[in-house]
Amino acid sequence: MRRAPFGVRSAGVAGVAPHAEIQQRVKQQFISSGLAVADFIHRYPRRITATLALLMLGSASGAFAVAKLAPAVPAEPIRLVSEDVALAPLTAQLDQLDSHSFTLYHSARTQVADSPASLLERLGIADPQASAFLRRDKVARDALFSRGAAGRVVSAEADDQQNLKQLTVRWLDASDNTRFNRLVVEKAAEGFTAKVDSGALVPAERLASGVVGQDALTVTGDTHLPADVTHQLSDIFSNGPGTKSNVRKGDRFALVYQVWEADGEVLRVGRVLSAELTAGGKTQHAVWFADKGSRGDRGDYYALGGESLYKPRYDLPLGKLRITSGFGLRVHPVAGATRHHEGVDLAAPRGTPVHAVADGRVEFAGVQHGYGNVVYVQHADGRDTTVYGHLSRIDVKMNQRITRGEQIGTVGSTGIATGPHLHFELRVNGSPINPSPVLAEAQTDTAVPGVSRAAFAEQSAAMLGQLAIADQLRPGGFE
Ligand SMILES: [Zn+2]
Repeated sequence: MRRAPFGVRSAGVAGVAPHAEIQQRVKQQFISSGLAVADFIHRYPRRITATLALLMLGSASGAFAVAKLAPAVPAEPIRLVSEDVALAPLTAQLDQLDSHSFTLYHSARTQVADSPASLLERLGIADPQASAFLRRDKVARDALFSRGAAGRVVSAEADDQQNLKQLTVRWLDASDNTRFNRLVVEKAAEGFTAKVDSGALVPAERLASGVVGQDALTVTGDTHLPADVTHQLSDIFSNGPGTKSNVRKGDRFALVYQVWEADGEVLRVGRVLSAELTAGGKTQHAVWFADKGSRGDRGDYYALGGESLYKPRYDLPLGKLRITSGFGLRVHPVAGATRHHEGVDLAAPRGTPVHAVADGRVEFAGVQHGYGNVVYVQHADGRDTTVYGHLSRIDVKMNQRITRGEQIGTVGSTGIATGPHLHFELRVNGSPINPSPVLAEAQTDTAVPGVSRAAFAEQSAAMLGQLAIADQLRPGGFE
């Protein structure tokens, strides 16, 4: 294919606000990096399915490395930094078609209780010799029909008589998840041979986009996302552990995720690296960022501004946390006797708003001896209950559904209390536990630390560029 000089094709790039500039820049560099794949997509946008584009772009991560490191306006065309390995078979296939040679390529997944005959039939092969070989040869049989071999992708080449020329299957090494095994069955002059070798998995990134289907975990259109990726997407845009995902039917998404490939075939799916979700005209972003400095290798998803998308299980019931009396045995300030304190006392002036720490249902709202005006909230998982005592006022009713952060009352000193404070309890399956760790977690600042801001900004800009490209892969989104 002809290589386009830098900038020539950029005129046709569709700008999608608000990231049009980055998108255009990345795409320019992407195209100018000489990837015939991009050229192909650009020239034949309607001829390829989004899935095919996905496969093709997925193997082109070298181009993104270029985009990330290159200055804004390069003086000369950017040189290729990596060869596109997936291109060769594609070109080979096109060439084969052109030269009237009828090598047929098929692929199919192995199934439980497959036989050589049933597998070959799905591969479009009618070759008794091949069938007999697969039955007889132990190496081939183990790789294709043993227990645990179901679900492997088998690719086959056949001649125009439907005779097998070559068959390949790859699978993860059971003892080392950085390696894979590969069986190749080949026809030679003296008959078939089977050989297994092994290789290192290659890390790569895949781009995908689409529209969320019926149950938030399916995707409409041509995009075939691994189930694990859709689960991650749903988790990333949820309100925290134990809450419902914000991903809904009809939402549009674009994402980049990590994979490990063997000869271009994905054998292992990793983490979602960045995601974009558009719902009701509002777009949210999430970028995975591992700060190698202050927080060890721990990573999190962040919004573009650097705020963490990670939500602690519970929020604080008060704006500020000051524990004046802890959980456990203590001499009761009013009764004088030693008693078990079933919660913590939080200092705050009378009238300070008290908030529900998580979504839930009001189990009780009223007066109880000792607690005074008290609210019990049962949380979504049905396991945890939080209790808010000594309130001067109650703002919710029994059985009312409430959301995280909703005001349920105000601080007071009703019941047995020496002065205004909030008595807060966390009960798990009815038994009070010490809520201090949960409250400490709730007040942790989870934004990207200052020292990592520059690295984060660079990474999120690169991710935006990739998402913009992913966005264009949406079926019908090319022109
Ligand atoms: Zn108390």
